[in-house]
Parts: sequence; C-alpha cells; structure tokens
Amino acid sequence: MTDTTRISAAALADLLAGGEVSSVEATQAHLDRIAAVDGDIHAFLHVSDHALDVAADIDRRRAAGEELGPIAGVPLAIKDVLVTTDMPSTSGSKILEGYMSPYDATVVARARAAGLVPLGKTNMDEFAMGSSTEYSAYGPTRNPWDLDRIPGGSGGGSAAAVAAFEAPLALGSDTGGSIRQPAHVTGTVGLKPTYGGVSRYGAIALASSLDQVGPVSRTVLDSALLHDVIGGFDPHDATSIDREWPSFAAAAREGARGDVLKGLRVGVVRELPDSGFQPGVSASFRASLAAMEAQGAEIVEVSAPHFEYGVAAYYLILPAEASSNLAKFDSVRFGMRVDVPGGTVEDVMAATRDAGFGPEVKRRIILGTYALSAGYYDAYYGSAQKVRTLIQQDFAAAFADVDVIVTPSAPTTAFRIGEKIDDPLQMYLNDLTTIPANLAGVPGISIPSGLAEDDGLPVGIQFLAPAYEDARLYRVGAALEALLVDAWGGPLLDRAPALVAREGGAF
Ligand code: GLN
Repeated sequence: MTDTTRISAAALADLLAGGEVSSVEATQAHLDRIAAVDGDIHAFLHVSDHALDVAADIDRRRAAGEELGPIAGVPLAIKDVLVTTDMPSTSGSKILEGYMSPYDATVVARARAAGLVPLGKTNMDEFAMGSSTEYSAYGPTRNPWDLDRIPGGSGGGSAAAVAAFEAPLALGSDTGGSIRQPAHVTGTVGLKPTYGGVSRYGAIALASSLDQVGPVSRTVLDSALLHDVIGGFDPHDATSIDREWPSFAAAAREGARGDVLKGLRVGVVRELPDSGFQPGVSASFRASLAAMEAQGAEIVEVSAPHFEYGVAAYYLILPAEASSNLAKFDSVRFGMRVDVPGGTVEDVMAATRDAGFGPEVKRRIILGTYALSAGYYDAYYGSAQKVRTLIQQDFAAAFADVDVIVTPSAPTTAFRIGEKIDDPLQMYLNDLTTIPANLAGVPGISIPSGLAEDDGLPVGIQFLAPAYEDARLYRVGAALEALLVDAWGGPLLDRAPALVAREGGAF
C-alpha cells in the first residue's frame, strides 16, 4: 500500500476521492510518523487526541455520498498562533500555557468545514517573534535536514512537520517572513498572501498591519489547494478584502503544465547586496534564474533603493504594534497569573508579565513602548512609517516594469541551533528579503531552488507579485518547481540527509 505520509496532499486527496485509502488510514499513518520522529524534531506542541474521530466522520460522510471538498480527509498541522477550541493555543508562550480558546480562528473553522483533519498544534517562536523557533518557551524545533540546525522561524514547527513527513499541509503566519524563511531552510513551500487576502481572525496578533496567515506544504499545488480553502472575505476581520479570488489550485496546475515562463518579466533587485549572501545561496539563486531564462523568461534589473531600510523600519513598526497587542496579557483576561501576596493589581500584572514572557518578547515590548513614547514618536515610529511608504513606492515602480520580483528567500541556509540566539541583530537580518513584502502588503512565495553547493542544505527562491496577484505566484512557482524537480530527478526532500540516514532508526 502507498505510504500516505510520503505523497503530496493533492495525490493523497486523489486516493481518498478514489476510495483507495481512507482518511482514518492516512491520519493514522501521520500519527504514527509523529510518534516515531517528533521526539527528535519537536515540531508539535500538542497532538490531537481525536484526529481519528474527525477522520472517521469524513470517511462516513464520503461513504454516504456527501459532496466533500477537494482536500477533505487530508491531515493538517496548525501553527500554535491560531486559536482552536479543541486544543490548547499558546503562541509558543508560557503566559498562555494550557489556554483554551472559546472559538476557532476563521482559517481553522474553514479548514474543518473543508474536511481537513487537524493533527495538532506546531511549535513557534514566542508570539511569532524570531527566525529559528529558539525563542519558543517550549524548546526549539529541529531541522529535518540536520538535527543540529534551526528549522527557521517563527513557523519552524509547521515547516519541519511538513519537511519530516509528519503532515502534508500546515498553516503558518507571516509578519516578516515566518512562512517563507522556514520554507527556505527546510526545502518546503510557503506563501504569504496579499494583506487582507486571508482572515487574521483568531490569529494571536503580533503586528496587525503586517500579519498574514498562509499555507505551508511540500509542493506549490498543495499550498494553492490549502489557500483556496482558507482564503477569502471574512467579516470578522476588519482588514479582510471583499473581492472574488481566482482558484489558486487552477493557477498552480496551469503553471506546472504550460509555458508561463516564456516572456515573463522577472525583476532582480539591483540594490540587494550580493556580499551579504552565503555564496551557496547566491549560486543556487543564479542557477534558478538561468533555468527560467532558458525557458524564455526575461531577467530584468529593477531598482528598489529603500529595501535596505526595510529591516530597520520593520523593527520599529513591529515592536510598536506588538507592545500594544501584548498589553492584553494583563493577568486578568488571559492565561497565567502570578499572585503577589499583599501586592497591588500592578504588582500582580508586573510579576505575571515578568514570569510569563521570554527575553525576546520583553526586548520588543521595551523597544516598542520606547518608539511610541511622546518624545520619540516622530523620530522613530513616524520615520519608519515614511520608509514603509517609500518601500511601497519602490514596489509600485518595479511592478510597472516586471511581472514578478525574485530574491533569495533568506541570506543563508539553516544556521546551527545556538549560533545566533545571543545576537538579536544577526537574527533580525535573516529577514532582509522577506520583510519588504509585509511592509507593502504584497504576496510572496518561497519554493525550493536547490541545495547550497557549500553546505548541502536547502535554499529557497522568493517570488513577489503586486497585491491581489497571489495566483501569479502559484502559476510561476509551479512552473519553476516543475522544471527544477525534473532536473533533480525527484523532490528535494527525498534527499534530506537526516531523514535518509536515520530511516532505519527513528526516521
Ligand atoms: N523573524 C521575524 C521576526 O522576528 C518575522 C516574524 C514573523 O513573520 N512572525 O519578527
């Protein structure tokens, strides 16, 4: 029988629809896989104890002839930033340990309605602040390519779960790169939708003007299938866009088939410093450009002079918004409370926040409240907002000339656990190429572009498109993916050394 953990969500959906495998069987296979490998990977903070019941219900409904959605019965991992009624939601923080939400995030509700089977909640940097999952209050997740390395962050749990074949699909959130950078370092696919394209209702807010929920998977088509399920207007989210979206799965299928690269104008950012990139990352990036050019794509230099200020602007805007969003963890309304005998309300609040928040969260709250304080508001927050506008103008000017912009998805391959944890600035610089999309609200996808020649680890290539053009990213991403997988002679992940070497053991 087919090992259902090794195939794509699309292939699994076909087997389910054809009655060749049941959702219970597929769900059991993934639970077995989690039991076998997650002790090493630690992608999950919580594994559902009723996934098999959900799967059995889908099987029953299918057997009764009910019309089910295209990926009904497929297992799904959920980043712990998304609230769920049937599993705890911690956002990687001690302050929310054991917290049970009274409602489901819209994306979770839609996934359930589409018949997806939630497997569990995935690990993440606390409140989605970080690039490595090392800031999770529950310990780091490990990269399935090399267990001593980080799986990216903040959504390292979702990316690692998918890369280690513990789940075919996962939900992530991306405020400055937390879907795309983990995809880059784990050899997986992840897409940050256009701002407002996917509901943020029930996504525990980090920075509301930057946050977007999106899909994580092993193939472009799989992300598109999940995006079709979770996307679209939600009246519960005030920034949700009320418009008709095309079928993203149809776009991905068209891309994999057709010659969409022919005549495609692909913009490379002149100002992105080659020097800051690991040589193996740059080489893989250039090889992907050459592959696209060979198919008739036109590689064009575009100017985006303000991209280099993106990280600086982001680390003012994000902490400002985060410090305000996190004020609700006040020891009264949610989660943890540390009692201070004889103390005032303020004493209890301070003791709770001191015990409940980790160092990175505290660092950003301090940065944010400082940047918003009366005397500094214009100098810091106000200036950062102006830079944000300039970056939006850079995008507008570039997209007048090209169809997509491409960059490496991150400057380096997966670094070692512990390597950057004491150097926040180095951690922040990871997001150099992903942050501009969040500041401008445009969509971005990361797909595997190959293995770095210097260390053999995965590298991702990022495509960016104008707002609302998420379908273009699926079309172009699927086209390059088809080309590369063909050239590699099969998916990259089948060659992950940790997976291969330990196949006889835990893997
Ligand atoms: N690494 C970035 C940060 O630490 C991005 C986080 C995210 O996208 N949630 O803020």
